[in-house]
Amino acid sequence: MIPVKCPHCRTGLKVDETKIPEGITSFKCPQCKHDIPVSYLTQRAADGGSETVLLRPVEKRQGRITVLAAFDTPEQVFPLSEGSHIVGRKSSNTEAAIAIETSDRTMSRSHARIDVRRDRRGNLIHTLSDCQSKNHTLYNGAPLGAGETVVLKDNDELRLGRTTLRFNF
Ligand SMILES: [Zn+2]
Repeated sequence: MIPVKCPHCRTGLKVDETKIPEGITSFKCPQCKHDIPVSYLTQRAADGGSETVLLRPVEKRQGRITVLAAFDTPEQVFPLSEGSHIVGRKSSNTEAAIAIETSDRTMSRSHARIDVRRDRRGNLIHTLSDCQSKNHTLYNGAPLGAGETVVLKDNDELRLGRTTLRFNF
């Protein structure tokens, strides 16, 4: 068994290398269903030792939010630094650190919050919660409940009002 971390969702996996069919170049992560290249797997030491080494280290990647373009919204990209960030509609008295240029009035000025912190291994963890917004924050299509916090994964979709945002690493 080879212990690896999915490079997309960072779920820890144990891969039975004897069960990987020959000739395939990637396999699907059982958790997030993204493709993991076989080259990502660890290789056993030539002496038969059990020590395994990642061919490519797990990246401590910075996330970003992309606001998808719509008739009332230009495309915008916001890199996410460590800390707490309010996401909302940009206005003269906006409090949002991630101030979205839009005429979508169904988006509150303080609509959602994204917290970025590091876990013990140094990986960046991005969490999303709603700021008691009037029209709620939709996470992959479902409204977040009061006090609910979700961990963002690559390609997650957020909806603030009628505006769609995508989270990526
Ligand atoms: Zn995964």
